[in-house]
Parts: sequence; structure tokens; C-alpha cells
Amino acid sequence: MTGGNAARAAFSTPFATFRAMRVSQSLLTPSPFWPNFCAGIGDGFDMAEEALIVIDVQNDFCPGGSLAVTEGDKIVPLINEMIAGFEHVVLTQDWHPANHSSFASQHPGKEPFGTIEMPYGPQTLWPDHCVQGSGGAAFHPALKWAKAELVIRKGFRRGIDSYSAFHENDRKTPTGLAGYLRERGIGKITLAGLATDFCVAYSALDAVSLGFDVTVRLDACRAIDLGGSLETMLGRMRDAGVTLA
Ligand SMILES: [Zn+2]
Repeated sequence: MTGGNAARAAFSTPFATFRAMRVSQSLLTPSPFWPNFCAGIGDGFDMAEEALIVIDVQNDFCPGGSLAVTEGDKIVPLINEMIAGFEHVVLTQDWHPANHSSFASQHPGKEPFGTIEMPYGPQTLWPDHCVQGSGGAAFHPALKWAKAELVIRKGFRRGIDSYSAFHENDRKTPTGLAGYLRERGIGKITLAGLATDFCVAYSALDAVSLGFDVTVRLDACRAIDLGGSLETMLGRMRDAGVTLA
């Protein structure tokens, strides 16, 4: 994740600042500081809404899948309860072409869970997983996904992996989710899903740097825990101001 801090800083707009900018903006037109994504939203715009974002609850990340997270399926009943309780629900789906560069199978002599150097930094290699349109990429069959207002797919560019729901692993390419949430007036998000120490954690870290108020429901997540990654990412989330509930 080298270079991540610079990218985060470039995109960072603390939530309080963001709201303050709205007030001052009425006196300053045009302003280079007013993001384009707010154009046309008008005076009624605020960020009071909350959303649940369910990360990658897909067959390949559940027992029996090609990149199974231990007990990945155990969180589905709790996530279903959470879906029922939130007004706004967004789902993410890992969604790779069959020749995706994060697959060890694309790198002769390399094994899954090894690391290679990509133009954007170190990249963990994975077993083939969540191939577009495959059964492994489908949501877990018990997940009550129908209420979701948006399904955001990530990792569809062959040359870049995407752990975060907000930015791909080059830390620069946005998925569009931040703009969507802001246009919807959603300033507070709760994350649940798979895996705690990869896609959930990177989504949470990006979300706080983008100015969202972020809670991760650890009881509704499960981890891969590769070489101490769970403890590392829990620490990074705490330090960044993510609420771990
Ligand atoms: Zn993936």
C-alpha cells in the first residue's frame, strides 16, 4: 500500500469541514473548493442519512468457495437482520475477469498468498475467485440482498485489484461509491461482511479519509488473518477513527 497516504490526503475532506464548506459556499461563487459532485443538489443538501454497506458476501468467500473465509457464512443471519433495520443498503461484489492480475494462476511459478510487485505497489496473490458471472461471484444464497439500492462491483480491471469499496488498489481510481453516497446525503456508514482485514478494513479506512462517519460491526465480519493482518488492520482502523463495534 505504498503511496497510500499521499492518495488519501489528496482525497481527504473531513466531514465537519465538508459541512462548513456548504455554508460558506453561498457567499463564494464560484469556488475551486466546492466539489463538482455537489452541483445542483441545492440548499436542502445535508449528510444526515445512514447506510449499511455489506462487503463481498459472495460464495467464493464462504466455506466451499475458492477463497473461503473461516465461518464466512456464519455472519449471514446477522447481516440479514441489519439489512432489515437500515433504511439504505448498499452491497459490494468482487467482480474479476477470468485473467485477473491478482490471481496466482496468471503468474507462472507463483503460489496463492505470495506477493508480487505491481506498478501500484505490493499485491497479494489469490486463488482464482469471484470471476464475473460465475457461481462463486454470486451472493451467498441466504443473503437477503433484494433491498439493496446499489450493488457496486470492484476489481473488474484486469491490471488492478480492488479491496476497498471506494478506491482500487492503486489508491487513485475511484469506484464512484463516495459520489453516490454524497449525492444521496449519506454521511454515516456501517460496514459488515468479508473479509475484516482486507476489503472491509480498506473500505473503512478510505471512507474515513473521505469524510464519512464509519462504524465496522466486527460481529458481522470474518477475517482471513494472513500473517497477522487482522491485528494490523484493526489497529489501523482504530488509529484512523473508525468505530469498531
Ligand atoms: Zn478479489
